[in-house]
Amino acid sequence: MARHIDPRTASRFLGYLLLFFPAICAAAPQDAPKFGPLPVFELHSGFWINLHHVLYHEAKEKLGAAVAPAKGGKKPGVAIKTVPGAKPALTAAEQEAWNSAVAYYTANYAEKDPLFSTELIQIKNQLGDFEECNEISGKMDKYCDAGLPPKLTQVLEAAAPVYRAHFWPDHDRANRRWIARVAPLVIEQGTGLSERLADIYQTKWPRQRIRVDVCAYANWAGAYTTLEPLRVTISSLDPRNQDDEALEVLFHEASHGIAAPVEEAIIRQCHQRDKPIPRDLWHALIFYTTGEVVRPVIAANEQAHGGQNSSSAEGGYTPYAVREGLYERGWKEYYSLLEQFWQPYLDGRASYDDAIARMVSSL
Ligand SMILES: [Zn+2]
Repeated sequence: MARHIDPRTASRFLGYLLLFFPAICAAAPQDAPKFGPLPVFELHSGFWINLHHVLYHEAKEKLGAAVAPAKGGKKPGVAIKTVPGAKPALTAAEQEAWNSAVAYYTANYAEKDPLFSTELIQIKNQLGDFEECNEISGKMDKYCDAGLPPKLTQVLEAAAPVYRAHFWPDHDRANRRWIARVAPLVIEQGTGLSERLADIYQTKWPRQRIRVDVCAYANWAGAYTTLEPLRVTISSLDPRNQDDEALEVLFHEASHGIAAPVEEAIIRQCHQRDKPIPRDLWHALIFYTTGEVVRPVIAANEQAHGGQNSSSAEGGYTPYAVREGLYERGWKEYYSLLEQFWQPYLDGRASYDDAIARMVSSL
């Protein structure tokens, strides 16, 4: 749900960097044992990529505390703290290993954005691929050399036993719970939703299933998507991603991988009309579209199962962008353009080109 992706920036550097990293070892996704292969997505709960995001998150918090020590307000996110009495506290040696890993992340990564930093994207993808390995240095098993910088490898391997003993069991359980909650809807509706969205954006859905790394912590937005390869990271603990909302988050993130044509069409229309390119209109459009496409599916599912969604008092389903107030916070004009000109296209009452042309000319 991060709002400022520039897919081209990330992909330009990635193609170059990928040349220098070793081959991927394939791992079975964690949705497989219970549900069999899902359509559209493969959902993973991987140890190393979770550890990486937790360290990044703690480093970021530490940096934030150092920059603004007076501000006590907590941002939405995940508190990576042991519940008092729930598990043994860290020993002095464990605490030291953990602290030094967090310090390393604070010094090297906390100021970089996981969505835009080529370095962080590359590290994330590598760690995802090596989820079945007990190490990432290849010291015991040459197939488990993730090819990451030696210092980072050392830091992660030193923090790994601490994470495995104290945090990972809870995080893995939360990830698998999240997967188990969303998987039946993906099985039932995934193919139909992917075809509908690809139609809307006048493009093709990726042939390969999209890898989704479910992590205790993702980024400030609760989820983000990087391209080439198209991969989604979603936080299983973020309150914004729970229950039926999980389905919308999945398809919103995946839409980042296929919505380039609509962004290009908006830019083309702006050039033709000599207008400045509206910042984030394309992103508001994919929020709006995913919400509208997912809404009836979830409402029907709710009815079929006799439940009521927590995000709407009257039942039905309130799309993410409405629920989280995104339109209210700066996208009000976009919302009315989308309702007025994009909705008719979604309803089959206007053409794609006309809808975009009218939105842009009304800006
Ligand atoms: Zn987004």
